[in-house]
Amino acid sequence: MAPPVSSRSHRIEIAARRISAVLALVLSTGYLPAAEPPGARHAAFQEVVKRGPVVHGRIPHLLVNRQLHAAFHSALNRIQGLESCRDLFENLGADGFQVLADTTYVYADTGPWRSVCDRACAFTTVGGPAVGLCVQFGRISTAEATLVLIHEALHGAGLGEQPHDPNGLAPDEIDEMVRNACGF
Ligand SMILES: [Zn+2]
Repeated sequence: MAPPVSSRSHRIEIAARRISAVLALVLSTGYLPAAEPPGARHAAFQEVVKRGPVVHGRIPHLLVNRQLHAAFHSALNRIQGLESCRDLFENLGADGFQVLADTTYVYADTGPWRSVCDRACAFTTVGGPAVGLCVQFGRISTAEATLVLIHEALHGAGLGEQPHDPNGLAPDEIDEMVRNACGF
């Protein structure tokens, strides 16, 4: 007759092995997205992080300027760190990191585009290289501003939107998609 202690310790050992197997799986998949990109890509990433966003002219509003720099870095990190976030761009045949790196930001709460700022905190044209920023952009949270930059970058990569694109998503639906894919 096997002593009960032995059979119990056997069960415990199996349970422990199962747990460690599950842990290893979680850790290895958990580490994958955060792994450093190889060689040249990593260097390019560091270069853009150091350079910061490309700004056309001057941003006269201090909060908008600060917000742009903080949100730009946060957006780069989310795209770099989350495969699901990168995939939003890859589904459009674009590289999200490159789209952000190539975007030119312009303060738009003056001049011909002023009226757009009555109903938006940022805007762009589909496939266009420039994003207009309004005063309101400086007044939202940095997380929200990060979401805005990724949303506008998707337009830069060619993503259409209702009502201009009848087959496109509504603005709220694009926000929701970015929230889910980019870890908000
Ligand atoms: Zn939009």
